[in-house]
Amino acid sequence: MTRILIVEDEQHLADGLRFNLEAECYDTEVVETGEAALDRLQVPDPSVDLMVLDVMLPGLSGFQVAAKLREQGDYVPILMLTARGRADDVVKGFEAGADDYLPKPFELAVLIARIGALLRRHAWGRRQQSTPTPAPPVDRYEFAGREIDFAALELRRDGRTLPLTLMEANLLRYLVQREGQVVSRKDILEQVWGVHEDTDTRAIDNFVVRLRRHIEDDAASPKHLLTVRSVGYRFVAEGNVGR
Ligand code: CA
Repeated sequence: MTRILIVEDEQHLADGLRFNLEAECYDTEVVETGEAALDRLQVPDPSVDLMVLDVMLPGLSGFQVAAKLREQGDYVPILMLTARGRADDVVKGFEAGADDYLPKPFELAVLIARIGALLRRHAWGRRQQSTPTPAPPVDRYEFAGREIDFAALELRRDGRTLPLTLMEANLLRYLVQREGQVVSRKDILEQVWGVHEDTDTRAIDNFVVRLRRHIEDDAASPKHLLTVRSVGYRFVAEGNVGR
């Protein structure tokens, strides 16, 4: 059974989430603080399939919890609950390693759809190791000795496999589909992240810095994910192409 860990300090909301997710045949578990969530996942726990993580928590914030888990190499799918009208929270959430977000208050049907989509994305990757069917869609991109597997949310290079968050994979997909073209920060925010409010577009730069650590040999002098001054970014599949 698919198990969802709910991290939410407002009890009526936690109860409502639990009730509705169980009605959808998910197994649920509720903790009220970030600290309790980290304790629960101290050792990456394959029995937790997804985490619904509130941002505003007493003690550690949802951002800190997500960042800590990713730092520990735990790539459990995270759906973050942010406050409506806080575009900065969305940006911070993705930077911390969230896979998707939903502003509060939200429609339950939307939450359930998002959870389903996130679980499906992650299931493709895992299913390859367990049961042979159904085959995941072929959804890969190779460049300069690296391979991005969009279905499995993985980057393979130098004999290593690095997990990607859904948003890292989505941004990479957006960039590689526009290989050689300049993509503005605003386009990334709107088209990839679904943020349509005015927010400081430079906020995504930290996210890009982290992505460079995955794909570049030297993140400080990128050859593939290039900054285009005062506009945004450009992805170049082969290095050494003039800027
Ligand atoms: Ca809260």
